[in-house]
Amino acid sequence: MTNVSNDERTVAIAAVRAAARVCRVVQDDLVNDQTLQKKDRSPVTVADFASQAVVCAMLSDRLSANAIVGEEDSQQLRQPEQAALLAGVVQQVRSVRDGEVRESDVLGWIDMGGADASADRYWTLDPIDGTKGFLRREQYAVALALIESGRVVLGVLGCPNLASESGTGCLLVAQRGQGAELVGLDEGSIANRITVSDVSDMADARFCESVESAHSDQSQSVQIARHLGIDNEPVRMDSQAKYAAVGRGDASIYLRLPTRADYREKIWDHAAGTIVVEEAGGRVSDIDGRPLEFTHGRQLEANRGVVATNGRLHDSVIAAIQATSDPGAAS
Ligand code: AMP
Ligand code: MG
Repeated sequence: MTNVSNDERTVAIAAVRAAARVCRVVQDDLVNDQTLQKKDRSPVTVADFASQAVVCAMLSDRLSANAIVGEEDSQQLRQPEQAALLAGVVQQVRSVRDGEVRESDVLGWIDMGGADASADRYWTLDPIDGTKGFLRREQYAVALALIESGRVVLGVLGCPNLASESGTGCLLVAQRGQGAELVGLDEGSIANRITVSDVSDMADARFCESVESAHSDQSQSVQIARHLGIDNEPVRMDSQAKYAAVGRGDASIYLRLPTRADYREKIWDHAAGTIVVEEAGGRVSDIDGRPLEFTHGRQLEANRGVVATNGRLHDSVIAAIQATSDPGAAS
């Protein structure tokens, strides 16, 4: 058994909900045809920093957490020429926090995410995973996880654009040994247990992968699908929403196939998602079938790529990856 307290679970959920609210407002207000056309990244920059500030502030205020490994730091925001950006971030943080919020508070909260992942117990946060999806108004996620002795013990994944029966916007919550559930993004929403698909025949399997071909090798995934006899077209989506898709059975396989030999996956890109799939009854490993090791700092140094499945299909998928791998490439 692990020691996730009720307070930790409650605060993590509240923090992701607050950050997701900020992201939605920024997306509604700042992402438009012009920013899309110009490939202007400024809206996601505001939301990224504000999301990290909001989550770190809540973990610190309500849990006295100090080991937080977040993707962002405040260096860029401290540059004098970035005053307008900082003002925009502060405005967003104020919209979800009671009491006075000064610029220095916001900068301090962002930098609380600067821990080095060496503690036995730490939080890891991706304030906006899938920035490209955010800018396209497609899928993105706020991903928060608690890691204890190298194992993810709690994961909270906020997916503001993921649809469910009760509307658009889902929160996936998974605690080690306690299963995974899907809740609406709004406070007071009803939670429903989720489970992976029971597909055991590849002809019925559906796989998902990144929209961005730089993040996962889409030509190898075509070969793998052919090798396995999967006819369904891949579902392409940004962010850890892919883990949500496998966790609730929309897809049975998530492939993340290295495009470069030297790329190492970041812990915040996978911690929350992996526990959602595992607690929904599925399996997660790297492309060699090894478990993901969250004990090597900010990156998954001992792993290459990621494969998440409903469990039943896992060994066949790993075998197909091996059969379609070029021994000289990406090793
Ligand atoms: P996705 O939305 O699943 O395509 O993944 C988004 C994440 O991909 C970002 O948060 C980045 O950390 C990560 N990323 C950036 N470059 C690469 C790469 N070359 N291979 C795999 N992941 C990457
Ligand atoms: Mg990310």
